[in-house]
Amino acid sequence: MSDDPHLPDVPPAPAAGETPLRTSLATPFQRVRTPDPLALVIFGGTGDLARRKLMPALWKLKEDGLLPDAFCIVGNSREDIDDAEYRQRMRAALEEFADAPDAGEWEEFARRIFYVHGSTDDPRTFAALRERLDEADREHGTRGNRLFYLALPPSVIAPTAEGLGRAGLVCDAEDAECWTRIIVEKPFGRDLKTARELNAALLRVFGEPQIFRIDHYLGKETLQNLLIFRFANVIWEPLWSRTYVDHVQITVAESVGVEGRAGYYDRSGALRDMVQSHLLQILTLVAMEPPASYDADSIRNEKVKVLQSIPLLQGDDIQRCAVRGQYAASGDGDGAMAGYLDEEKVPPGSRTETFAAVRLAVDNWRWAGVPFYLRTGKRLPAKASEVVIRFRPAPHPVRDLVQRDDPAPNALVLHIQPDEGISLFFEAKQPGLRGLLRPVSMDFDYCKAFGMESPEAYQRLLLDAMLGDATLFARRDEVEDAWTLITPIAEAWEAGGEPERYPAGTWGPRCADELLRREGRSWAVPSVME
Ligand code: NDP
Repeated sequence: MSDDPHLPDVPPAPAAGETPLRTSLATPFQRVRTPDPLALVIFGGTGDLARRKLMPALWKLKEDGLLPDAFCIVGNSREDIDDAEYRQRMRAALEEFADAPDAGEWEEFARRIFYVHGSTDDPRTFAALRERLDEADREHGTRGNRLFYLALPPSVIAPTAEGLGRAGLVCDAEDAECWTRIIVEKPFGRDLKTARELNAALLRVFGEPQIFRIDHYLGKETLQNLLIFRFANVIWEPLWSRTYVDHVQITVAESVGVEGRAGYYDRSGALRDMVQSHLLQILTLVAMEPPASYDADSIRNEKVKVLQSIPLLQGDDIQRCAVRGQYAASGDGDGAMAGYLDEEKVPPGSRTETFAAVRLAVDNWRWAGVPFYLRTGKRLPAKASEVVIRFRPAPHPVRDLVQRDDPAPNALVLHIQPDEGISLFFEAKQPGLRGLLRPVSMDFDYCKAFGMESPEAYQRLLLDAMLGDATLFARRDEVEDAWTLITPIAEAWEAGGEPERYPAGTWGPRCADELLRREGRSWAVPSVME
């Protein structure tokens, strides 16, 4: 029982034999299960993602007791190394990107890590993989269940899926004996046409329920909590519409530049790399209707409806509602920052945008007339992602009570990173005999409130894929609808014009400020929670 009469009772601990609720990794709508026995195959197993994110996430899942006993990992890349060398590299990855593992525990874990070398365009690679997996079934009891993680360059995703199919490594979606799933990393295509082609290629081999299109932003705790915040509390929903909301801002700011990834980034740019995926995903969670139930398809149905309610920007609307920038050199001495065009591997005269901002509308009953402003960029002053719900001003001035007649409108800020939390800004009377108003905030900090760090997004997403829960993964129509919105803008930008230069380390080009200023608004400065 809670001691605080205002707090409801905490549910009792599960009885012996009963499945406990997930603690560190709880999604609101799932009970913990350890996944079925399985073999996880990481294509691109020597790459940056595998070392920096996947292996640390797997190790943490193991430490939390969330991996099945019958489990193994098979890494693949073209490099000709053996199991011992691969294990050594994965241990080094943990030392670099997580905590140094305890020697005994590592030895036990490493016995379940294997490596198969070979290109995914070579049928012999799949034959060797098949042999290795059959052996794992016999030796480790993985029962023919396979999760293929394609941490590969985009150009080899479709051929790899096809290779898996040709090699007979994919169980039928209806098979009751075993299951096969595939995780595909972003970018998922580079426009509507290529996204459709990629979907078609995957769907020739896998059923839609077997395909897990990852957007790691959805694994972040604040985004999952957005559904709980909105739909498990009665106080927000009445405010959550055009009646009280003036506009919504979504910012995903990075302080870094291209960091040696110019080869990929220059072909992509901020719009394709970030807006099509992370920012539109955040928008759908903010704007969606309550789902009929909290299963993957009900939630994704509602997200798709939001995307389909956003009018396409075309012709002059693109000029008016979508702006782009590119960072230029700034500062001097120790604080000097190179411009995008001076970064290694950026082609001379590149017009790729490192900053994009768009004004979208969600044309439905709830949101008609409420602008959604989205912005993202590199080399901005801080790494900070947040959603600002800006409410309408109070309808009647309080001039008889206070000296200032323009109270700041209320704002609700959802902090996504670096710190996860929620702040509500409202006006308060400053103590004293004079009637002075001051905006103040009530802050909820995830880490402080629960006394623990949020799990890494990849922990959540890997576990969910192992469990077959696709709630936090993008469905085919979701991805295609997002590209439907983004492709005309990307094509218009490709066809002509230049991104406006902004000094590295500032909040983007002037045209982004102008986008809001002409509607009498301004961007909120992202707050980093203390
Ligand atoms: P890397 O270039 O670091 O790694 C690519 C991996 O794929 C290497 O292991 C490479 O090894 C292997 N590979 C490439 N071609 C083949 C092939 N034909 N057959 C077998 N193996 C191959 O890339 P990242 O790890 O950074 O990214 C992987 C994917 O994840 C990309 O699609 C990226 O967009 C996405 N992603 C990455 C993020 C990150 O933080 N790194 C974040 C979000 C998405 P080898 O060359 O030896 O064969």
